[in-house]
Amino acid sequence: MGAASRRFANAALVLESELDPPALLAALKRTEREFGRRRGQRWGDRVLDLDIVLWSGGAWRTKALTIPHKAFAQRRFVLDPACIIAPDWRTPLHGLTLAHTQARLTRPRPLPS
Ligand code: ATP
Ligand code: CA
Ligand code: CA
Repeated sequence: MGAASRRFANAALVLESELDPPALLAALKRTEREFGRRRGQRWGDRVLDLDIVLWSGGAWRTKALTIPHKAFAQRRFVLDPACIIAPDWRTPLHGLTLAHTQARLTRPRPLPS
């Protein structure tokens, strides 16, 4: 996305945790810093970007944290690896599974007449 000039590896994981979403986000940011990420590198080159895509508790919406991640349904680099490990996970958006969400993004659609 954006101005990145390097290639990136994308991955997805299912994480079981006692932390609530804000506490998990804080832990992810700590990990990014430990890997050497500096502030203000949105969409630019950075060593690590850890986002929360979905949560078993459903949706979460505050100024600092939105779950489901606001752009996951438009991003193949998120959906492709997520579908390998959790194709049947139903998202709170229309109750579609990840596999269905991926299919909607990748299937060719007829042009509107
Ligand atoms: P994008 O959001 O398009 O993937 P990004 O990951 O590069 O961009 P960051 O600069 O890493 O953006 O994060 C900006 C802020 O987004 C974070 O400080 C965090 O508070 C907020 N945020 C909101 N929802 C989420 C989420 N689901 N997972 C991670 N961060 C989130
Ligand atoms: Ca991101
Ligand atoms: Ca991020």
